[in-house]
Amino acid sequence: MTSSAVQPGPPAPPGHEENAYRTAVAQFDAVAERLHLERSVAEVLRSPKRELTVNFPVQMDNGTVRIFTGHRVQHNEARGPVKGGIRYHPAVTIDEVRALAMWMTWKCAVVNLPFGGAKGGVAVDPRGLSLSELENLTRRYAAEISIIIGPERDIPAPDMGTDARIMAWIMDTFSMNVGHSVPGVVTGKPLSIGGSQGRVEATGRGLLYITQEATRAAGHALDEATIAVQGFGNVGATTARLMIAAGARVVAVSDVAGGIYRATGFSWEELQPALERHALLQDVVQGVDKLTNEELLALPVDVLVPAALEGQITERNAASIRARLVVEGANGPTTPEGDAILAANGIPVVPDILANAGGVVVSYFEWVQDLQSFFWEEDEVNVKLHRIMTRAFNEVSALQAREGVTMREAANMLGVGRVAEAFLTRGIFP
Ligand code: NAD
Repeated sequence: MTSSAVQPGPPAPPGHEENAYRTAVAQFDAVAERLHLERSVAEVLRSPKRELTVNFPVQMDNGTVRIFTGHRVQHNEARGPVKGGIRYHPAVTIDEVRALAMWMTWKCAVVNLPFGGAKGGVAVDPRGLSLSELENLTRRYAAEISIIIGPERDIPAPDMGTDARIMAWIMDTFSMNVGHSVPGVVTGKPLSIGGSQGRVEATGRGLLYITQEATRAAGHALDEATIAVQGFGNVGATTARLMIAAGARVVAVSDVAGGIYRATGFSWEELQPALERHALLQDVVQGVDKLTNEELLALPVDVLVPAALEGQITERNAASIRARLVVEGANGPTTPEGDAILAANGIPVVPDILANAGGVVVSYFEWVQDLQSFFWEEDEVNVKLHRIMTRAFNEVSALQAREGVTMREAANMLGVGRVAEAFLTRGIFP
């Protein structure tokens, strides 16, 4: 097999440690070596299978037309149709989407779903658009990528900057183009059009289950733990709410503007208005200590949950982390250099591809329900989610103990190993 056209991500320029593709490729290369993957197999697995970049016009409210750039990357489909979120964020690049697609492949394999990985994104700040501009942009982007998505091929879902309403527009646009309703083309939809009970909070709930397992394995109880959560969106806010409900002390939370801290912990009633009003935590929760995101990351808590974006724990600040355990809610919040420092300091990290997999697990349930047109109760969803998350945690922990590696290395070994096995079993066409 000849060398692939897709080369490893570029080295990180000084001050830009957060090139997610560089992180993803570095992690993959380390695990490929550990698994003794044949060079040609490693090249196939590290290369995105299909990449689509679209530049498309959107009619703005003031009558002007703006051009936006979007991507959809399908990383690997050895284990089944590909699946992954769509991100609306000004910093979206093809490299970031490639990294996120690759992580989705390993994540789906770690929790043993019959999916490969994909990801999409548009470089846009959705907060700067009116509702009709957001709808125009979404429908046009959906139409542009509709040539490669579909319930048997590639099933998008929400990610940063996108939500159930946006999934509804994508589902409707795709359905209009084919002439009939296709609920299974996206997950994370509203319940009224084929969404699943429990999907909105699934990533946070999965994080809760994983944190319960991880603290129990370390000999602590979650209801005695102090928690700091970076990010107060779908993942961060749900995690904070469920941790508080489980009896843990959430002492700090933050959003893009900074965070709030109280040693005795927050109640959900205090935090909820910030979520409901889409307002900043520091503006809504008064009379408490304010802190920067950097200060939040360095708090001496039992559990630190980075749930905002990638590249947060790096060479620059990893030595200041004093948490006893890091549970990654975001994708790629720790760079390889940051990871090495945490490992040297004896701080265990439950990696993203295990910790935040609850979202894609319930997305899988939603897809199954859509295909069968037969819908489950919330209890049923949560019981099945718990079973899958705890099984994956136990499998990763057993591999970690057997191989004497970090939890990230073990999760990567499990995920990459399963994808390699599927690829080798299928063989190469023709
Ligand atoms: P979101 O858009 O709902 O929320 C993002 C949060 O991060 C917001 O509170 C925002 O204010 C905050 N934020 C943005 N920039 C920040 C910065 N520089 N510093 C601190 N906070 C900042 O996004 P989300 O869906 O909660 O996703 C968060 C992370 O979790 C992403 O990495 C995403 O890929 C990952 N993830 C999401 C899901 C899901 O189901 N939504 C599933 C798995 C992983």
